[in-house]
Amino acid sequence: MSWIPIPDGSPFPLANLPLGVGHPGDGRPRAWVAVGDSALDLAAADAAGLLDGLGLPDDCFGDRDLNRYLAAGPEVWSRLRVRLRETLSDGAAAHRLGSGDDGTGPNDVSGAVVPRSELVMAVPTTVRDYVDFYSSIHHATNLGRLFRPDGEALLPNWRRIPIGYHGRSATLVADGATIRRPAGHRRAAGADDGEPVVGPTHALDIELEVGTVVGVGSKIGQPIAIEDAGRHLYGLCLVNDWSARDIQAYEYQPLGPFLGKSFATSVSPWLVSFEALEPFRVAPPVQDPPPARYLWTGTPWGFDLHLEVWLESATMRTAGTAPVCISRVGFADMYWTPAQQLAHMTVNGAATSSGDLFASGTVSGPDPGTEGSLIELTWRGERPIELPDGTTRTFLEDGDRVELRGWAGSERATRFGLGSVTGTIEAGEGAVS
Ligand code: CA
Repeated sequence: MSWIPIPDGSPFPLANLPLGVGHPGDGRPRAWVAVGDSALDLAAADAAGLLDGLGLPDDCFGDRDLNRYLAAGPEVWSRLRVRLRETLSDGAAAHRLGSGDDGTGPNDVSGAVVPRSELVMAVPTTVRDYVDFYSSIHHATNLGRLFRPDGEALLPNWRRIPIGYHGRSATLVADGATIRRPAGHRRAAGADDGEPVVGPTHALDIELEVGTVVGVGSKIGQPIAIEDAGRHLYGLCLVNDWSARDIQAYEYQPLGPFLGKSFATSVSPWLVSFEALEPFRVAPPVQDPPPARYLWTGTPWGFDLHLEVWLESATMRTAGTAPVCISRVGFADMYWTPAQQLAHMTVNGAATSSGDLFASGTVSGPDPGTEGSLIELTWRGERPIELPDGTTRTFLEDGDRVELRGWAGSERATRFGLGSVTGTIEAGEGAVS
Protein backbone atom coordinates (compact mmCIF):
# COMPACT_ATOMS: atom_id res chain seq x y z
CA MET A 1 0.00 0.00 0.00
CA SER A 2 2.79 2.42 0.92
CA TRP A 3 6.16 2.77 -0.76
CA ILE A 4 7.58 3.30 2.73
CA PRO A 5 7.45 -0.21 4.25
CA ILE A 6 5.06 -0.48 7.19
CA PRO A 7 5.76 -3.57 9.33
CA ASP A 8 2.75 -5.63 10.32
CA GLY A 9 1.38 -4.34 13.62
CA SER A 10 3.23 -1.02 13.39
CA PRO A 11 1.77 1.71 15.64
CA PHE A 12 2.11 4.14 12.75
CA PRO A 13 0.06 2.86 9.78
CA LEU A 14 -1.31 5.13 7.03
CA ALA A 15 -4.44 5.66 9.13
CA ASN A 16 -2.40 7.37 11.84
CA LEU A 17 0.13 9.77 10.24
CA PRO A 18 1.30 11.56 13.42
CA LEU A 19 3.44 14.69 13.02
CA GLY A 20 6.58 15.64 14.89
CA VAL A 21 9.62 17.91 14.75
CA GLY A 22 13.20 16.67 14.76
CA HIS A 23 16.44 16.34 12.85
CA PRO A 24 18.51 13.36 11.65
CA GLY A 25 21.74 14.61 13.20
CA ASP A 26 22.16 17.70 11.03
CA GLY A 27 20.94 20.11 13.71
CA ARG A 28 18.19 21.48 11.45
CA PRO A 29 14.83 20.72 13.08
CA ARG A 30 11.89 20.36 10.71
CA ALA A 31 8.53 18.60 10.52
CA TRP A 32 8.18 14.86 9.85
CA VAL A 33 5.34 12.38 9.56
CA ALA A 34 5.84 8.95 11.11
CA VAL A 35 5.16 6.00 8.78
CA GLY A 36 5.97 2.54 10.11
CA ASP A 37 9.53 2.56 11.44
CA SER A 38 10.38 5.50 9.19
CA ALA A 39 9.62 9.19 8.93
CA LEU A 40 9.07 11.37 5.88
CA ASP A 41 10.60 14.86 5.81
CA LEU A 42 7.61 17.15 5.24
CA ALA A 43 9.79 20.14 4.37
CA ALA A 44 11.42 18.05 1.62
CA ALA A 45 8.03 16.79 0.44
CA ASP A 46 6.75 20.37 0.28
CA ALA A 47 9.88 21.53 -1.58
CA ALA A 48 9.37 18.70 -4.11
CA GLY A 49 5.90 20.08 -4.85
CA LEU A 50 4.10 17.12 -3.30
CA LEU A 51 2.09 19.32 -0.91
CA ASP A 52 1.08 22.07 -3.35
CA GLY A 53 -2.45 23.45 -3.27
CA LEU A 54 -3.27 22.49 0.31
CA GLY A 55 -3.29 26.06 1.64
CA LEU A 56 -0.26 25.45 3.86
CA PRO A 57 1.54 28.51 5.24
CA ASP A 58 4.74 29.14 3.22
CA ASP A 59 7.53 26.72 4.14
CA CYS A 60 5.81 25.98 7.47
CA PHE A 61 7.36 22.51 7.73
CA GLY A 62 10.84 24.01 7.83
CA ASP A 63 9.94 25.67 11.15
CA ARG A 64 11.28 24.49 14.49
CA ASP A 65 7.71 23.80 15.62
CA LEU A 66 4.30 22.91 14.19
CA ASN A 67 2.65 26.13 15.37
CA ARG A 68 2.10 27.83 11.98
CA TYR A 69 0.79 24.60 10.51
CA LEU A 70 -1.61 24.09 13.43
CA ALA A 71 -2.87 27.68 13.14
CA ALA A 72 -3.91 26.97 9.52
CA GLY A 73 -6.94 25.11 10.87
CA PRO A 74 -8.87 21.87 10.49
CA GLU A 75 -9.54 22.08 6.73
CA VAL A 76 -5.79 22.28 6.05
CA TRP A 77 -5.11 19.44 8.54
CA SER A 78 -7.64 17.24 6.72
CA ARG A 79 -6.27 18.08 3.27
CA LEU A 80 -2.73 17.21 4.38
CA ARG A 81 -3.89 13.80 5.66
CA VAL A 82 -5.59 13.01 2.36
CA ARG A 83 -2.56 14.17 0.36
CA LEU A 84 -0.10 12.22 2.50
CA ARG A 85 -2.10 9.01 2.07
CA GLU A 86 -2.14 9.58 -1.72
CA THR A 87 1.54 10.48 -1.84
CA LEU A 88 2.65 7.52 0.24
CA SER A 89 0.59 5.16 -1.91
CA ASP A 90 2.00 6.53 -5.16
CA GLY A 91 5.43 5.31 -6.28
CA ALA A 92 5.74 8.25 -8.67
CA ALA A 93 5.77 10.58 -5.68
CA ALA A 94 8.84 8.78 -4.40
CA HIS A 95 10.56 9.49 -7.74
CA ARG A 96 9.81 13.20 -7.38
CA LEU A 97 11.23 13.19 -3.85
CA GLY A 98 14.31 11.31 -5.01
CA SER A 99 15.85 13.63 -7.54
CA GLY A 100 13.18 15.56 -9.30
CA ASP A 101 11.18 14.25 -12.22
CA ASP A 102 14.03 12.23 -13.74
CA GLY A 103 13.77 10.03 -10.66
CA THR A 104 16.45 7.62 -9.56
CA GLY A 105 13.83 5.32 -8.16
CA PRO A 106 11.72 4.96 -5.07
CA ASN A 107 14.62 3.47 -3.16
CA ASP A 108 16.63 6.67 -3.34
CA VAL A 109 14.73 9.43 -1.67
CA SER A 110 17.83 11.44 -0.77
CA GLY A 111 17.38 11.54 2.96
CA ALA A 112 13.74 12.58 2.78
CA VAL A 113 12.83 9.25 4.41
CA VAL A 114 14.87 8.17 7.43
CA PRO A 115 14.53 5.51 10.12
CA ARG A 116 12.65 7.09 13.02
CA SER A 117 15.37 5.80 15.34
CA GLU A 118 17.85 8.19 13.67
CA LEU A 119 15.80 11.29 14.45
CA VAL A 120 16.48 13.55 17.42
CA MET A 121 12.98 14.65 18.28
CA ALA A 122 11.90 17.89 19.94
CA VAL A 123 8.79 19.01 21.80
CA PRO A 124 6.62 19.33 18.67
CA THR A 125 5.14 22.76 19.35
CA THR A 126 6.28 25.97 20.96
CA VAL A 127 4.02 26.03 24.01
CA ARG A 128 3.10 29.48 25.24
CA ASP A 129 0.78 28.19 27.94
CA TYR A 130 0.88 24.81 29.62
CA VAL A 131 -1.94 23.74 31.94
CA ASP A 132 -2.21 20.50 33.87
CA PHE A 133 -5.64 19.21 34.84
CA TYR A 134 -6.64 16.64 37.47
CA SER A 135 -9.38 14.77 35.68
CA SER A 136 -9.17 11.14 36.84
CA ILE A 137 -11.61 10.56 39.67
CA HIS A 138 -9.54 7.60 40.87
CA HIS A 139 -6.32 9.63 40.98
CA ALA A 140 -7.98 12.63 42.65
CA THR A 141 -9.52 10.36 45.28
CA ASN A 142 -6.26 8.50 45.92
CA LEU A 143 -4.24 11.72 46.25
CA GLY A 144 -6.89 13.21 48.52
CA ARG A 145 -6.59 10.19 50.82
CA LEU A 146 -2.77 10.32 50.78
CA PHE A 147 -2.33 14.08 51.20
CA ARG A 148 -5.32 14.78 53.47
CA PRO A 149 -5.90 11.53 55.41
CA ASP A 150 -8.16 13.25 57.91
CA GLY A 151 -10.22 15.17 55.36
CA GLU A 152 -12.62 14.53 52.55
CA ALA A 153 -10.77 12.65 49.75
CA LEU A 154 -12.66 14.30 46.88
CA LEU A 155 -13.48 17.96 47.49
CA PRO A 156 -16.99 19.14 46.50
CA ASN A 157 -15.79 21.37 43.65
CA TRP A 158 -14.09 18.44 41.87
CA ARG A 159 -17.30 17.17 40.24
CA ARG A 160 -18.36 20.71 39.24
CA ILE A 161 -15.31 21.97 37.33
CA PRO A 162 -12.17 20.45 35.76
CA ILE A 163 -9.57 21.30 38.43
CA GLY A 164 -6.19 22.35 37.06
CA TYR A 165 -3.16 24.57 37.55
CA HIS A 166 -0.87 26.53 35.28
CA GLY A 167 2.37 24.67 34.67
CA ARG A 168 5.69 25.90 33.35
CA SER A 169 6.03 25.75 29.56
CA ALA A 170 9.76 26.63 29.67
CA THR A 171 10.58 23.32 31.32
CA LEU A 172 8.68 21.07 28.94
CA VAL A 173 11.33 18.62 27.71
CA ALA A 174 11.57 16.22 24.79
CA ASP A 175 11.67 12.45 24.62
CA GLY A 176 14.88 11.01 26.05
CA ALA A 177 15.63 13.95 28.33
CA THR A 178 17.68 13.61 31.47
CA ILE A 179 15.71 14.70 34.52
CA ARG A 180 17.90 16.22 37.21
CA ARG A 181 16.72 15.44 40.72
CA PRO A 182 15.31 18.73 42.01
CA ALA A 183 15.88 20.27 45.40
CA GLY A 184 13.49 22.13 47.63
CA HIS A 185 11.82 22.33 51.03
CA ARG A 186 10.33 19.25 52.64
CA ARG A 187 9.12 18.37 56.11
CA ALA A 188 11.66 16.75 58.41
CA ALA A 189 10.93 13.04 58.90
CA GLY A 190 8.21 12.47 61.46
CA ALA A 191 7.46 16.15 61.91
CA ASP A 192 4.41 17.84 60.48
CA ASP A 193 5.48 21.28 61.68
CA GLY A 194 8.63 23.12 62.49
CA GLU A 195 11.91 23.49 60.66
CA PRO A 196 11.83 22.01 57.13
CA VAL A 197 14.77 20.27 55.47
CA VAL A 198 16.18 21.85 52.30
CA GLY A 199 17.83 19.59 49.74
CA PRO A 200 17.29 17.09 46.93
CA THR A 201 13.87 15.45 46.88
CA HIS A 202 13.50 12.01 48.46
CA ALA A 203 10.19 11.37 46.71
CA LEU A 204 10.69 11.77 42.96
CA ASP A 205 7.66 10.44 41.11
CA ILE A 206 6.06 10.19 37.69
CA GLU A 207 2.59 11.09 36.47
CA LEU A 208 1.21 9.20 33.47
CA GLU A 209 -0.85 11.69 31.47
CA VAL A 210 -2.28 12.38 28.03
CA GLY A 211 -1.71 15.86 26.61
CA THR A 212 -4.04 17.77 24.29
CA VAL A 213 -2.53 20.23 21.80
CA VAL A 214 -4.36 23.39 20.74
CA GLY A 215 -4.47 23.84 16.96
CA VAL A 216 -6.31 27.12 16.53
CA GLY A 217 -6.04 29.56 19.41
CA SER A 218 -8.52 32.12 20.73
CA LYS A 219 -8.38 35.77 21.66
CA ILE A 220 -8.63 37.26 25.13
CA GLY A 221 -12.24 37.89 26.06
CA GLN A 222 -13.56 35.21 23.69
CA PRO A 223 -14.53 31.97 25.43
CA ILE A 224 -14.49 28.83 23.25
CA ALA A 225 -17.92 27.19 23.19
CA ILE A 226 -17.64 23.48 23.90
CA GLU A 227 -19.34 22.66 20.58
CA ASP A 228 -16.46 24.46 18.80
CA ALA A 229 -13.75 22.45 20.57
CA GLY A 230 -13.23 20.25 17.51
CA ARG A 231 -12.24 23.28 15.44
CA HIS A 232 -9.66 24.36 18.00
CA LEU A 233 -8.11 21.12 19.23
CA TYR A 234 -5.56 19.27 17.10
CA GLY A 235 -4.71 16.02 18.84
CA LEU A 236 -3.06 14.06 21.61
CA CYS A 237 0.39 13.12 22.92
CA LEU A 238 1.82 11.50 26.06
CA VAL A 239 3.00 13.58 29.00
CA ASN A 240 5.03 12.66 32.08
CA ASP A 241 4.46 15.26 34.80
CA TRP A 242 7.53 14.48 36.95
CA SER A 243 6.66 15.32 40.56
CA ALA A 244 8.61 15.75 43.79
CA ARG A 245 6.05 14.59 46.35
CA ASP A 246 7.84 15.88 49.45
CA ILE A 247 8.33 19.34 47.95
CA GLN A 248 4.73 19.28 46.69
CA ALA A 249 3.36 18.29 50.11
CA TYR A 250 5.18 21.14 51.85
CA GLU A 251 4.29 23.90 49.37
CA TYR A 252 0.89 23.07 47.89
CA GLN A 253 -1.35 24.68 50.50
CA PRO A 254 -2.88 27.20 50.07
CA LEU A 255 -2.11 27.90 46.38
CA GLY A 256 -1.41 24.55 44.72
CA PRO A 257 1.48 22.84 42.89
CA PHE A 258 4.58 24.93 42.18
CA LEU A 259 8.25 23.86 42.47
CA GLY A 260 7.30 20.23 43.11
CA LYS A 261 6.15 20.09 39.48
CA SER A 262 7.85 22.86 37.50
CA PHE A 263 11.36 21.35 37.19
CA ALA A 264 10.53 19.13 34.18
CA THR A 265 7.60 17.77 32.18
CA SER A 266 8.30 15.29 29.35
CA VAL A 267 6.28 15.42 26.12
CA SER A 268 6.16 12.62 23.53
CA PRO A 269 7.37 13.48 20.01
CA TRP A 270 4.49 12.39 17.74
CA LEU A 271 1.17 14.28 17.76
CA VAL A 272 -1.76 12.07 16.81
CA SER A 273 -4.64 14.10 15.39
CA PHE A 274 -8.22 13.87 16.63
CA GLU A 275 -9.20 13.18 13.03
CA ALA A 276 -7.07 10.02 13.08
CA LEU A 277 -8.45 9.12 16.51
CA GLU A 278 -12.09 9.37 15.35
CA PRO A 279 -12.61 5.54 15.32
CA PHE A 280 -11.58 5.44 18.98
CA ARG A 281 -13.94 8.17 20.20
CA VAL A 282 -16.18 6.95 23.06
CA ALA A 283 -18.73 8.42 25.44
CA PRO A 284 -17.13 9.55 28.71
CA PRO A 285 -18.65 8.48 32.05
CA VAL A 286 -22.00 9.97 33.03
CA GLN A 287 -21.34 13.01 35.19
CA ASP A 288 -23.22 13.42 38.46
CA PRO A 289 -24.17 16.15 39.18
CA PRO A 290 -24.72 17.27 35.57
CA PRO A 291 -22.12 19.90 34.63
CA ALA A 292 -22.94 23.56 33.98
CA ARG A 293 -24.30 24.31 30.49
CA TYR A 294 -20.97 25.56 29.16
CA LEU A 295 -19.38 22.23 30.11
CA TRP A 296 -22.05 20.04 28.55
CA THR A 297 -21.91 18.57 25.05
CA GLY A 298 -23.59 15.69 23.26
CA THR A 299 -20.39 15.03 21.30
CA PRO A 300 -18.47 12.15 22.87
CA TRP A 301 -15.01 13.42 23.82
CA GLY A 302 -13.73 10.29 25.55
CA PHE A 303 -11.04 8.24 23.78
CA ASP A 304 -10.40 4.52 24.04
CA LEU A 305 -6.68 4.57 24.80
CA HIS A 306 -4.50 2.07 26.62
CA LEU A 307 -1.53 3.44 28.57
CA GLU A 308 1.45 1.79 30.26
CA VAL A 309 4.39 2.74 32.50
CA TRP A 310 7.70 0.89 32.09
CA LEU A 311 10.62 1.16 34.53
CA GLU A 312 14.29 0.22 34.19
CA SER A 313 17.02 0.78 36.79
CA ALA A 314 20.61 1.63 35.89
CA THR A 315 21.62 -1.86 37.09
CA MET A 316 19.04 -3.50 34.84
CA ARG A 317 20.26 -1.42 31.90
CA THR A 318 23.88 -2.45 32.50
CA ALA A 319 22.89 -6.10 32.81
CA GLY A 320 20.75 -5.96 29.69
CA THR A 321 17.58 -6.78 31.66
CA ALA A 322 14.40 -5.66 29.92
CA PRO A 323 12.32 -2.89 31.52
CA VAL A 324 9.28 -3.96 33.54
CA CYS A 325 5.71 -2.74 33.17
CA ILE A 326 4.53 -1.30 36.49
CA SER A 327 1.13 0.09 35.45
CA ARG A 328 -1.51 -0.54 32.79
CA VAL A 329 -4.57 1.68 32.59
CA GLY A 330 -7.37 2.71 30.25
CA PHE A 331 -8.06 6.36 29.40
CA ALA A 332 -11.71 6.01 28.38
CA ASP A 333 -13.19 6.56 31.83
CA MET A 334 -11.50 9.90 32.53
CA TYR A 335 -14.17 12.05 34.17
CA TRP A 336 -13.42 15.38 32.45
CA THR A 337 -12.71 15.45 28.69
CA PRO A 338 -10.38 17.62 26.57
CA ALA A 339 -13.37 19.56 25.20
CA GLN A 340 -14.61 20.30 28.72
CA GLN A 341 -11.11 21.31 29.79
CA LEU A 342 -10.83 23.74 26.85
CA ALA A 343 -14.28 25.24 27.46
CA HIS A 344 -13.48 25.64 31.15
CA MET A 345 -10.01 27.09 30.53
CA THR A 346 -11.46 29.87 28.36
CA VAL A 347 -14.88 30.52 29.97
CA ASN A 348 -13.41 33.51 31.81
CA GLY A 349 -12.06 34.97 28.56
CA ALA A 350 -8.52 33.60 28.94
CA ALA A 351 -6.70 33.43 25.59
CA THR A 352 -5.18 30.32 24.01
CA SER A 353 -2.50 30.00 21.32
CA SER A 354 -1.66 27.51 18.59
CA GLY A 355 0.63 24.90 20.06
CA ASP A 356 -0.58 25.28 23.64
CA LEU A 357 -0.60 22.10 25.68
CA PHE A 358 -2.92 20.97 28.42
CA ALA A 359 -2.54 17.63 30.12
CA SER A 360 -5.24 15.33 31.43
CA GLY A 361 -3.93 14.87 34.93
CA THR A 362 -2.61 11.53 36.13
CA VAL A 363 -4.51 8.67 34.56
CA SER A 364 -5.38 6.13 37.25
CA GLY A 365 -7.91 3.33 37.24
CA PRO A 366 -9.87 1.80 40.11
CA ASP A 367 -7.80 -1.38 40.46
CA PRO A 368 -4.32 -2.18 41.86
CA GLY A 369 -1.75 -1.91 39.08
CA THR A 370 -3.74 0.71 37.18
CA GLU A 371 -2.40 3.75 39.06
CA GLY A 372 -0.47 6.33 37.03
CA SER A 373 1.99 7.40 39.75
CA LEU A 374 4.37 5.68 42.16
CA ILE A 375 2.84 7.33 45.21
CA GLU A 376 -0.42 5.56 44.37
CA LEU A 377 1.13 2.30 43.11
CA THR A 378 3.15 1.91 46.32
CA TRP A 379 0.67 3.74 48.56
CA ARG A 380 3.45 6.12 49.65
CA GLY A 381 5.93 3.35 50.29
CA GLU A 382 3.70 0.80 52.02
CA ARG A 383 3.81 -1.54 49.00
CA PRO A 384 7.26 -1.28 47.35
CA ILE A 385 7.66 -2.40 43.75
CA GLU A 386 10.15 -5.24 43.30
CA LEU A 387 12.49 -4.98 40.33
CA PRO A 388 14.30 -7.85 38.55
CA ASP A 389 17.67 -6.59 39.84
CA GLY A 390 16.62 -7.44 43.41
CA THR A 391 16.00 -3.84 44.46
CA THR A 392 12.69 -2.24 45.35
CA ARG A 393 11.18 1.12 44.51
CA THR A 394 8.89 3.43 46.39
CA PHE A 395 10.06 6.52 44.49
CA LEU A 396 12.60 6.93 41.68
CA GLU A 397 16.32 6.40 42.21
CA ASP A 398 19.11 8.08 40.25
CA GLY A 399 19.69 6.23 36.99
CA ASP A 400 16.09 5.01 36.72
CA ARG A 401 14.59 5.29 33.25
CA VAL A 402 10.82 5.61 32.84
CA GLU A 403 8.96 5.08 29.59
CA LEU A 404 5.30 5.89 29.03
CA ARG A 405 3.64 4.05 26.15
CA GLY A 406 0.18 4.47 24.67
CA TRP A 407 -2.03 3.32 21.87
CA ALA A 408 -5.66 3.45 20.84
CA GLY A 409 -7.96 0.49 21.19
CA SER A 410 -7.77 -2.53 23.42
CA GLU A 411 -4.92 -3.64 25.63
CA ARG A 412 -3.72 -6.12 23.01
CA ALA A 413 -4.04 -4.06 19.84
CA THR A 414 -0.92 -1.92 19.52
CA ARG A 415 -1.56 -1.04 15.89
CA PHE A 416 -2.54 2.58 16.35
CA GLY A 417 0.03 4.19 18.56
CA LEU A 418 0.64 7.39 20.45
CA GLY A 419 4.28 6.28 20.61
CA SER A 420 6.21 6.68 23.83
CA VAL A 421 8.17 9.15 25.93
CA THR A 422 11.16 8.38 28.12
CA GLY A 423 13.19 10.20 30.73
CA THR A 424 16.17 9.19 32.86
CA ILE A 425 16.85 10.45 36.39
CA GLU A 426 20.25 11.86 37.24
CA ALA A 427 21.61 12.89 40.61
CA GLY A 428 21.06 16.45 41.72
CA GLU A 429 23.12 17.79 44.60
CA GLY A 430 20.62 20.55 44.93
CA ALA A 431 20.66 24.05 43.52
CA VAL A 432 19.97 25.41 46.99
CA SER A 433 21.82 25.05 50.27
CA1 CA B 1 -0.11 16.17 36.92
